[in-house]
Amino acid sequence: MTTDYLVVGCGLSGAVMARFIAEERNKKVLIVDKRDHIGGNCYDYIDENGIRINKYGVHLFHTNSERVWKYVNRFSSWTRWEHKVLGVIDGQYIPLPPNITTINMLCGQHLTNQQEADDWLSRNQLKHEHIDNGYQMATSRVGETLYEKIFMHYTFKQWGRYPEELDASVLARIPVRNNFDDRYFSDKYQALPTDGYTKMFENILEHENITVRLSCDYFDIEPSAISNSTIIYSGPIDDFFTNVGYPKLEYRSVNFEIQRMKNTKFFQPCAHVNHPGPETPFTRIIEYKHLLNQDSPHTTIISETSCSDGDPYYPVPTKRNTELYEQYKALAEKERNIHFVGRLASYKYFNMDQSILNALEYCDSNFSI
Ligand code: UDP
Repeated sequence: MTTDYLVVGCGLSGAVMARFIAEERNKKVLIVDKRDHIGGNCYDYIDENGIRINKYGVHLFHTNSERVWKYVNRFSSWTRWEHKVLGVIDGQYIPLPPNITTINMLCGQHLTNQQEADDWLSRNQLKHEHIDNGYQMATSRVGETLYEKIFMHYTFKQWGRYPEELDASVLARIPVRNNFDDRYFSDKYQALPTDGYTKMFENILEHENITVRLSCDYFDIEPSAISNSTIIYSGPIDDFFTNVGYPKLEYRSVNFEIQRMKNTKFFQPCAHVNHPGPETPFTRIIEYKHLLNQDSPHTTIISETSCSDGDPYYPVPTKRNTELYEQYKALAEKERNIHFVGRLASYKYFNMDQSILNALEYCDSNFSI
């Protein structure tokens, strides 16, 4: 196993780094993943109903970064997709993120324009001296009533914690709108890869200097076999340092329950329906057939339920974890010839575009000639 660079993890960060080093540095790159497929959590495939589904939860691409948009267009064609989400709240389908319609339906209002929405919001928003946690963030944006109906229980189901215990940034991820815009994201570019994410990864990794090895756990590789290689590690940072004896970082994982319904046109009105209430264990149901308007006589739905055990998906941004991560980071900085990059190695809740940009910028700083 002689290689100039060994990239650990075949998700977005790993693939982008591998491509950069292979292409810009003209170095041999071996990229390994313990799973039996490329693409990390973006991996998708066509199921037995002929519908493209994401194995690890729905992935919606959106970005304002010209650099990232240009980059992904090198490796895939994209179809514009302005994602919309409904929430089942008080027995009705309500647009999310909150907009004027949401306020009118959930709070019995008849607001018609931005001025009225701003007035309603400022009357209801809680004023906090500091915004130190998710509760303060959410109530300062939407007030108590919408907070309880939309954010409180959903966040508990998603994170195993109420917003009080989470970093404010988590509850600031989705916008609050004073108009009728019912798109989930506001970014300039919102699209899905026309032939799927897996195909895009194949194209990123298609380079004479890149070798892919799947079902290969980095920790099973004999250290002497890679002693002359530079390592780029995109796995969980605490897995890398288990021998140090620090406590483990927390991650949330997700359980997916797939239901395939034969001869069923649609199960729900749009691709993505959130269930923010405490009455269901799952946070959302995705009906993949709606995405890019796929054609099939059948349909496939997947409900997502968060849990604490299983593959690590989401770093959990609590004070304890943030401080613990800093200790791991200090260890990582002492390592020679090993680079820690990506959502799990940086313990950051990156969106897809942020992962790509972070990897590209890391390469600019460390691997540009
Ligand atoms: N959130 C919520 N109710 C919703 C949607 C989101 O409480 O209906 C909160 C929840 O804490 C979630 C955060 O907002 O973790 C960010 O939502 P986003 O859709 O960005 O999460 P993603 O699924 O992309 O990780």
